Amino acid sequence: MIYELHSGTPDNVLDDLRQIEGAYLTSVNGHHLVLTHGSTPLPYLEKYENHISRTVETVPDIQLSSKAYHPNKRAIKIGELTIGGDTNNTLVIGGPCAVESEAQIMEAAAYMKKVGINVFRAGAFKPRTSPYTFQGLGAEGLRLLEAVREKYGLKIITEVKDSTHFDQVAETADIVQVGAKAMYDQAVLRACGQIRKPVLLKRHFGATIQEWVQAAEFILLGGNQEVMLCERGIRTFENKTRFTMDITGVAWIQHHTNLPIIMDPSHALGATYGIKSLAKASLAMGADGLLIESHPNPKVAKSDAKQQLPLETFGSMMEELRNIAPALGRTLV
Ligand code: PEP
Ligand code: MN
Repeated sequence: MIYELHSGTPDNVLDDLRQIEGAYLTSVNGHHLVLTHGSTPLPYLEKYENHISRTVETVPDIQLSSKAYHPNKRAIKIGELTIGGDTNNTLVIGGPCAVESEAQIMEAAAYMKKVGINVFRAGAFKPRTSPYTFQGLGAEGLRLLEAVREKYGLKIITEVKDSTHFDQVAETADIVQVGAKAMYDQAVLRACGQIRKPVLLKRHFGATIQEWVQAAEFILLGGNQEVMLCERGIRTFENKTRFTMDITGVAWIQHHTNLPIIMDPSHALGATYGIKSLAKASLAMGADGLLIESHPNPKVAKSDAKQQLPLETFGSMMEELRNIAPALGRTLV
């Protein structure tokens, strides 16, 4: 249940409400909200009835992200660009899996700029499955991403893998990526709730849709309303592909939530051969964004080598997407 309070609700009333067990307060665009679990009204709230301007009944745990609360898709601003809202924009996010060196990142960024990409992605802190593989350049990687922004005017999305380096990443990034493995990290989610920058929340490969959206609720309840979900493939019985891109789940998200959805075929497939067709399928579904990995020399990439498109392949994918976008009613940004 969401109770929106009249503007100007006095501080002492807000303090009283905070004391009620099971009442969670937040503020969205200057409006105070009281949220409770489930649709059963809290008994003690009755006496505050005259402070309530709107009551929204929601299913348990899917509240601020629900269509009941906000019927239209949320608009997310990334600099001059907007996705979601009443736009038909699909944001193409490109770049390598990781920042590996100055030469590698600059070559990738120059190419992305050339083919019209506005938002550049690469990881500086990499959450690898093995501790014996490349872990990312860390703070040095963030500095190189800042140099990319400076030189090419690209917006930067980069990943936070745990809360030890949250502030550093949030300072550098224009969009903070919460990686699949960090989707369950409550410290990261709560920290994302405190910033005022867009957050791209990847789905853990073992998470149900419910758990994924609940993770988004942690960020929204913290006060940050700029949350995008990212479908990057889930683990199923199938092992011919790295993961299974859950497009039925995407349809559910589009129907039931107000959160923009970014689709990431690169991590789902784990190979290059089907990326173009999966990107087209995502565009046809009305994805608000695509996240595609591309590297100047994928063979020597230090992470996710098999799935990163050579730059020229990324370029030809962009051309094909641009050709079909008008027929699908989408605009690539
Ligand atoms: C990545 O985006 O490079 C990455 C590590 O992906 P995921 O968190 O989806 O595994
Ligand atoms: Mn990757």
